[in-house]
Amino acid sequence: MHRTRIRVAADALDANETIARANRADFDRAGVAVVNLMSAPGSGKTALLERAIEAGLDSRVGVLEGDVQGSLDADRIARLHVPVTQLNTAPGFGGECHLDANMVRTALPDVPLAEIDLLVIENVGNLVCPAEFRVGEDARAMICSVAEGEDKPLKYPLMFRACELVCVNKIDLLPHVDCDLDRLLANVAAVNPDATVLTVSARTGEGIEAWRAWLDAVPRRSATRA
Ligand code: MG
Ligand code: ZN
Repeated sequence: MHRTRIRVAADALDANETIARANRADFDRAGVAVVNLMSAPGSGKTALLERAIEAGLDSRVGVLEGDVQGSLDADRIARLHVPVTQLNTAPGFGGECHLDANMVRTALPDVPLAEIDLLVIENVGNLVCPAEFRVGEDARAMICSVAEGEDKPLKYPLMFRACELVCVNKIDLLPHVDCDLDRLLANVAAVNPDATVLTVSARTGEGIEAWRAWLDAVPRRSATRA
C-alpha cells in the first residue's frame, strides 16, 4: 500500500518534470526568463511585484497570477499596464493549492511571450507544495515576512531550500512583532546557505531597488545559460 502510494507520487512528479521541460523550451524559444514567485498567503508577493514594476524594471515584464479563485491580484497588476494573465486553480484544477507545470502550460496561449523578456509567475500562497513542482522557471524566489515569525525556515525547509532568493518583507513591522531578524536570517542560512537574501519593505520602499535589480538580472543570467 505504502509503496504504491510512493510510486504514484513519483510518477506524478516525473510527469510534471516532462511538462516543465516543454514549458522551458517554449520560454527559451521566446527568449523569456521566468521567475517562480512563492510565499505563504499574505507575505507580500503582489505588493513587491507592484513596487518592482513602479521602480522601473528594465525588463519587459509579464505576470501570470496563480490563485485558487478570483482576480484581485491580477487586477492590481493590470493597473500598472503590465500584461497579466489570470490562472485560477478552481474550478479547472480542483482548487489546487499550488501551480504545477501542466496548469502553467494550459495558461501559456494567453501569455504574450513575444512581447516580454521576463515572466513572473505568482504562485498560489502556500509554503508547502509549490516548492515540489517545477513549472519551467529559470529562478525561484520566495517572500517571507517578519510577521510570520523567525521559525518558518526551520518548519518549512523545502520551500526555503528550493529558492535562489529569499526576500524578507515587512521589515517596517520589526518594532511591532516578535521576530528577531538576526535569528530569522540565521535560520534561512541554516537551511539554504547559498540563497541570496534581501530585507525589504513593500510599504516603505526599503530594499526595493535591490529587489528590482535581482529581477532584472534573471534574463541576463538565463541568457548565459547553455
Ligand atoms: Mg498575491
Ligand atoms: Zn498544493
